[in-house]
Amino acid sequence: MSSNEFWKTKSLQEMTSSEWESICDGCAKCCIFKFEEDDTGHILQTDVVCKLLDLDTCHCTKYEQRKTLVPDCITITPDNILQLKWMPASCSYRLLAQGDDLPAWHSLVTGNPKSMQLANKTVQGRVVSEIEVDDIEDRIIGWFDPNN
Ligand code: SF4
Ligand code: SF4
Repeated sequence: MSSNEFWKTKSLQEMTSSEWESICDGCAKCCIFKFEEDDTGHILQTDVVCKLLDLDTCHCTKYEQRKTLVPDCITITPDNILQLKWMPASCSYRLLAQGDDLPAWHSLVTGNPKSMQLANKTVQGRVVSEIEVDDIEDRIIGWFDPNN
């Protein structure tokens, strides 16, 4: 094991803030709008992403101000990651919290910051921005399955 593989030796709680941030694989799946059905609690997924997401890079364009600009943006922490049932199974925080390893395409593993996009693991090319949509509920594409 490389001495740089901190995610294998530290818990999420033990990571520095920069280590924690580097765990995010940049998929941007958590920036997709979802709805929760009142009666069933089922999560319905759309193909619409937050207005602050850059559709090319899949990065938040106002990351430091996101909580002010988008109050519904959830801050992910070591304590809540496993409680957020709408987080995708592929989320790197979720994988580590479950005791799994990072995927082979993660930039921390490959050393290439573009490896997620090269492996087609981001929302790039599959979503539209909310600024292009009149009614987000018209863009529901199906049930959200957190195991996929
Ligand atoms: S789903 Fe997880 S890994 Fe993907 S962008 Fe969101 S926090 Fe990062
Ligand atoms: S504010 Fe940024 S991090 Fe939060 S949902 Fe929007 S694009 Fe994603």
